[in-house]
Amino acid sequence: MRIEEDIKLDYSDVLFRPKRSTLQSRKDVNLKRTYKFKYSNHEWSGIPIMAANMDGVGELGIAEKLSEFEMITCLTKQHDLKTIKSDKKVKNIFKNIVLSMGTREDDFNRVSEILKECSFFQFICIDVANGYSEHFSKFVKSVRDKYPTKTIIAGNVVTADMTQELILSGADIVKVGIGPGSVCTTRIQTGVGYPQLSAVIECADAAHGLGAHIIADGGCTCPGDVAKGFGGGADFVMLGGMLAGHDEGKGNIVEKNGEKFIQFYGSSSEVANERHYGGLNGYRSSEGREVLLKYRGKINDTIINILGGVRSSCTYVGARSLKELSKCTTFVRVSNQFNDTFTK
Ligand code: 5GP
Repeated sequence: MRIEEDIKLDYSDVLFRPKRSTLQSRKDVNLKRTYKFKYSNHEWSGIPIMAANMDGVGELGIAEKLSEFEMITCLTKQHDLKTIKSDKKVKNIFKNIVLSMGTREDDFNRVSEILKECSFFQFICIDVANGYSEHFSKFVKSVRDKYPTKTIIAGNVVTADMTQELILSGADIVKVGIGPGSVCTTRIQTGVGYPQLSAVIECADAAHGLGAHIIADGGCTCPGDVAKGFGGGADFVMLGGMLAGHDEGKGNIVEKNGEKFIQFYGSSSEVANERHYGGLNGYRSSEGREVLLKYRGKINDTIINILGGVRSSCTYVGARSLKELSKCTTFVRVSNQFNDTFTK
């Protein structure tokens, strides 16, 4: 047994240190980024915030709205050719859509079928809870061999060694995060995880050294956390809970004592397993939970609020653009990041 003594940090353990700046207004801040991906050579421009491939978030309705802001949506693994073809708007927003799959054969076949007819999609996300198995790296390699010009996202991992391994196996972008999610129970069920900000900082460093990119996936609770992800070096930040609870996600609206709520659940929760795979099989336990979120109406204001927060973070540290944010970032460690007197 070994213990690593150096301190690893979560978003809530730090704040940005403000710096002198010549920026006059947050509207001068450019949040758009342009990336060219390592293997696909594909160039993408937009605001690098992504909706997670979770029910109620990774949906076509969300993709339509996010695309207006040039933001990306990872569709859930339930999207097949038929659902995609039935949405006429897909043809206009495909550049901001990611197709997701696990490592099951039927999943791979579903995505292959979509790509056969809709070869315009650029992004494939190979998404498993634990990206540390040898089988996973081999699978990433086989997808790379089959799709040399697609941009492949693979994850999730939280350490530099495995980020490098996935990149060397053919991933353009590595998805980082084990256990930080709003409806994730991995840390409770298994005791496994890594504080998200440190995971982002360490994996970004590893990926950038190899000319690849990373996504900070999970654990953002407010716009400040999104900015901290970018400040830590993330190329993209992926959000589940922060984008859930809206009309566009088409979740179940439930009324309780005159108030409206939307059901939201983790992708490996019991509800998700029952809905999509006919229940959990005998040797697995659920690593996600179900919550009722206050219904939040249209997603437009939520997006504007997130982007406004990130722009403002940039002005506080003197970054004219999102691209400059990590270079302008000094984090200070804190033991209390927020005065919650009136929120209890
Ligand atoms: P959030 O933004 O809600 O904090 O985190 C979203 C991320 O949580 C997703 O992109 C995914 O990586 C992770 N996630 C979603 N559902 C589950 C689940 O059931 N179990 C675990 N361990 N992680 C989940």
